[in-house]
Amino acid sequence: MRKIIFNAGPATLPEVVLQQASEGILDLSNEGISVAEISHRSTLFQNILAETLHLLRELLCLNHDHEVLLLQGGGRLQFAQIPMNFLSKETAAGFIDTGYWAHQAMMYAAYYGNTNTIASSQQKQYTCIPKATEFKASNGYAYIHLTSNNTIYGTQFHQIPTVDSPLIIDMSSDILSRIIDFDKIDFAYACAQKNIGPAGLSIAIVKKDFLARSNTHIPPVFNYQLLAAKKSNYYTPPVLATYISLLNLRWLKAQGGVATMEAINHQKAKALYAEIDRNSLFENNIQAEDRSYMNACFTMQSAEMEQAFIDFCEQHHIIGIKGHKITGGLRVSMYNAQTLDNVQQLIHIMRAYETNYMNK
Ligand SMILES: *Cc1c(COP(=O)(O)O)cnc(C)c1O
Repeated sequence: MRKIIFNAGPATLPEVVLQQASEGILDLSNEGISVAEISHRSTLFQNILAETLHLLRELLCLNHDHEVLLLQGGGRLQFAQIPMNFLSKETAAGFIDTGYWAHQAMMYAAYYGNTNTIASSQQKQYTCIPKATEFKASNGYAYIHLTSNNTIYGTQFHQIPTVDSPLIIDMSSDILSRIIDFDKIDFAYACAQKNIGPAGLSIAIVKKDFLARSNTHIPPVFNYQLLAAKKSNYYTPPVLATYISLLNLRWLKAQGGVATMEAINHQKAKALYAEIDRNSLFENNIQAEDRSYMNACFTMQSAEMEQAFIDFCEQHHIIGIKGHKITGGLRVSMYNAQTLDNVQQLIHIMRAYETNYMNK
């Protein structure tokens, strides 16, 4: 029996996508070869790559000013690759510190150049998103970096702020979940394993004029200009992860695309937060207007109570709700592939648990 999986990443994928992937692993489009065996130079893979890039452009409403890159590795590799390409000892990058990942991105950049925090919610235990009025001056930076959705703390920028330097956004945990105007963003990136496909692949969306400024005196494997010129097929790409991501993007398009997903994502999150707020056993201490639509992070009175609830969920085939080790507590991740039905199932269990608890 398939479980209801609320993991933060790698996250659940639509069952139909897994079905199609398993067919492709045995025999790709009746070609007599597995997708895991094809050459990355073959026409079969050229087609997979071209359709993946095309679907990303279409679903994200990108135009000819944007280059789309498919990259190896995860989010952290981008934390390093971005400053290699866009920062130096003579320049500085500004960071909006809204949690663990945002802070890690800054730590990585510090190996390559100067870093400055232009806004932070650390003093508030990362329970909110800094308001634009709290930002320090943002002009003169090589770039400003922010994390659009804070996977570990459960906060999200519901509006992308305007800054006076090129803007780079880590969208690892909310890409494709909502309509975003990429005209305002010079570089956006995401590891695949939250909302795109399996781990091993990352994507980057970069404005061509910003790309032209990158440092090219770095090893070719890190050089964004070169990777763009080679159309994301310079080193051997993660063929299988790319293929499964393509199946997932096709699924996403068939659901109605990003706008439809955004509406469903709002329904899921609203229903879950309403239950957390109503239910006497659970608490969410995130600033209401900054709550994430992707990751709801909440607590119970004690770690023991949380573990007992996790065990109760597992008895009902619901898994993956343990919070990140940094924060403890509970975390429910509701990326695109998570259904409203599954979230309602969890809500039902939360109610049942409360009733049992009160009757003890
Ligand atoms: C998961 C995540 C990352 C890190 O991804 P890795 O692929 O494990 O390096 C970075 N940023 C955000 C916002 C994430 O959610």
